Amino acid sequence: MAFIEVKNLTKKYGDFSAIQDLSLVFDESAQYAILGASGSGKSTLLYHLGGLDRPTSGEILIDGENIASFSDKKLAAFRNKSVGFVFQFHFLLPSMSCEENILLPAQIAGVETANVKSRCGELARHLGVAHCLDKYPYQLSGGEQQRINIIRALSLKPKMLLCDEPTGSLDSENSQKVTQLLKELATEYGATLIVVTHDVNVASHFNSQFHLKDGSLLTSQ
Ligand code: ADP
Ligand code: MG
Repeated sequence: MAFIEVKNLTKKYGDFSAIQDLSLVFDESAQYAILGASGSGKSTLLYHLGGLDRPTSGEILIDGENIASFSDKKLAAFRNKSVGFVFQFHFLLPSMSCEENILLPAQIAGVETANVKSRCGELARHLGVAHCLDKYPYQLSGGEQQRINIIRALSLKPKMLLCDEPTGSLDSENSQKVTQLLKELATEYGATLIVVTHDVNVASHFNSQFHLKDGSLLTSQ
């Protein structure tokens, strides 16, 4: 069933179109790679799907609701509740411990943190970063920081897990591992997984791929 429907999305910066009249459909709980060369519009598309940016024209329907028409406040609530983001470089807050970072979305949402804390603690054990929870981000390796970031992204059980070059700073062995991990966790959480990458090896883990070129769809499979 269509969960996300992008309809005639265009994003312009001045006269330049980063995304040009793009229409795509993503099914619920399915897993996708968005592939394309640098500058093809991958990040721009992902930010629109997650409500971080607004289209110049077109619609982004999530469960039938056009998030492009949401007020700023409603859009912020949608991002907090429904979207988990994983970027190439983590955005952990340096002045908070890793556990405090993980619990931040729950605090912003005003939900009880006890359940989130125990579930995320379990996930941290599963991912081998339980010993990092009381530490500050700067005390962790890049791979550990990425795992804490993934736990935070999943902390409120988002419907969408959006990843922008999540393996961009990792070697090829760790790239494969993190890609597999994202797929397993998305399956476990029932989240729709969308991974943006310029790397065909990362994309090859996904049966469904959208290939962008110059802000338009080149191929899909
Ligand atoms: P990708 O993630 O595929 O590398 P992006 O979505 O980041 O590509 O960018 C697509 C195009 O839009 C690029 O040519 C980029 O320079 C341009 N672009 C992205 N963001 C902005 C911005 N804020 N202002 C102007 N141009 C932008
Ligand atoms: Mg990008």
